[in-house]
Amino acid sequence: MSSPKTKKEVKYVFVTGGVASSLGKGILAASLGKILESRGLSVTLQKIDPYINIDSGTLNPYEHGECFVTEDGAETDLDLGHYERFLGKPTSRGSNFTAGRIYHNLIAQERRGDFLGKTIQVIPHVTNEIKKLIYQLGNQENCDIVITEIGGCVGDIESLPFLEAVRQIRLELGNTSTAFAHLTLVPYLKAVGELKTKPTQQSVKELLSLGIQPDVLVCRCTQELPKEIRQKIALHCNLSLDRVVEAKDTHIIYEVPLALRKEKLDEQILNQLQVSKPKKPDLKLWENFLNRLKNPRENIRIAIVGKYVQLKDAYRSIYESLVHAGAHTKSSVQILWISAEEINTANVEEKLHKAAGILVAPGFGERGLEGKMNAVQYAREQKIPFLGICLGMQCAVVEFARHALKLPQADSTEISPQTPDPVIDIMASQKELENRGGTMRLGAYPCKLQKKTKAFEAYQTSQISERHRHRYEFNTRYAKKFQEAGMKSTGLSPDGRLVEIVEIEDHPWFIGCQFHPEYKSTVEKPHPLFICFVQAAIRQEEIKSITYQQN
Ligand code: GLN
Repeated sequence: MSSPKTKKEVKYVFVTGGVASSLGKGILAASLGKILESRGLSVTLQKIDPYINIDSGTLNPYEHGECFVTEDGAETDLDLGHYERFLGKPTSRGSNFTAGRIYHNLIAQERRGDFLGKTIQVIPHVTNEIKKLIYQLGNQENCDIVITEIGGCVGDIESLPFLEAVRQIRLELGNTSTAFAHLTLVPYLKAVGELKTKPTQQSVKELLSLGIQPDVLVCRCTQELPKEIRQKIALHCNLSLDRVVEAKDTHIIYEVPLALRKEKLDEQILNQLQVSKPKKPDLKLWENFLNRLKNPRENIRIAIVGKYVQLKDAYRSIYESLVHAGAHTKSSVQILWISAEEINTANVEEKLHKAAGILVAPGFGERGLEGKMNAVQYAREQKIPFLGICLGMQCAVVEFARHALKLPQADSTEISPQTPDPVIDIMASQKELENRGGTMRLGAYPCKLQKKTKAFEAYQTSQISERHRHRYEFNTRYAKKFQEAGMKSTGLSPDGRLVEIVEIEDHPWFIGCQFHPEYKSTVEKPHPLFICFVQAAIRQEEIKSITYQQN
């Protein structure tokens, strides 16, 4: 298969990983993208996941972290969240695909008769389909560089067709249009006081056996890599010394672009790709952000109440949005991770009294729901700033119905289909659907905000667009009752049929949103709802310390 001709020559960088998983390929890809973009190149990022699921929509967050939703409604890997937060521009459906997607496409073609008479094989059919989706993104975005991160570890059976496909891409496009960056681990053995290069050597051998010579090695380590160690790695891995780049652990992921820039990773990649005269990197905004992040004036604690709190990646975008808002407001946000299942009416105060803000997380199903409801009630009655996202908003609505509207059996029909007061109900468009994968209300939808509300105050505009991922919604039959009792629908879909935001007027800051603001917060553009939530928490912290001093 020959490479399709593009208007502008697109170059491809492939990020692979070896030795161990979780070394941070996603952060490496995002950081490299950020540096290259700061040098005037237009970059787009892509993640390949070698598992068989068609997308990450049906994966348990405990196994795979959160599911990140793109503007165009794809349910994708959480690394796309890093890409968007670092580059500040949206990804799309084409930015993530899995082995399952490749086989699904091929089988559909086979059933249609596209291959009549032919045997469909891994090479060339599977590899061709993989290459197609890689080239497609480059052509569609019309960018200078596509950075494709290949999930998993070199040596995994699942990765083989993907590595073979990118080997072929090098063959088709040549050495100066492709670059391979391989991330490995250089462990430090305390007992002998030595950095060990063998795992890196072996990982490169594994890649070589698949026909891929990495152009740059990025070595994750806890100690600085002395020159002799770099020389040893370079010698064993057929590289010049400056192509061995150190990636020492940083405290915060947002330091990685600057650290890699210092190591001249971008120079090495641009030199491989023979990109002539790129401009000097301009990372001023990034540096300002880091400066604010590292020099906070206030300290606040925010509770995240959810059912997957043991695995921080399950709420990664929410966490990062709070980091962005913290830097923006020059405050250090400490997260109190509270398991919803462990909250009950008797201990809610003890669990949440330290928090200056309470965030109830999105989710599905019944587990932990009563605990979330207790957390909402506590925030509402004690007048603690509150942000409820998706299921968190739905809990706020149910709690308000039960305690303020005195409808004790009010519920969401997701939890109790027979409730006499279905204040949260399945959307009409969702009723007939049978398949569970990819069928929710997904992606960006416009929303109109009412003036003189906290939501409007935050966004400073009445036309917004936010991303969704849900099946249930606020039942507008009850809207008037809620309004009269003090919970207002302040954000609606443009046709007025769907309630996207509720807020309580008589409260310092209480907002529930049906959408997911966390998908749109970036380093250089923190999300207005998170900023205002953190600002409200700062005010709450001040009130708390005054009361404490008076007592
Ligand atoms: N389970 C709820 C629904 O489907 C909320 C989903 C979510 O929090 N993302 O509507």
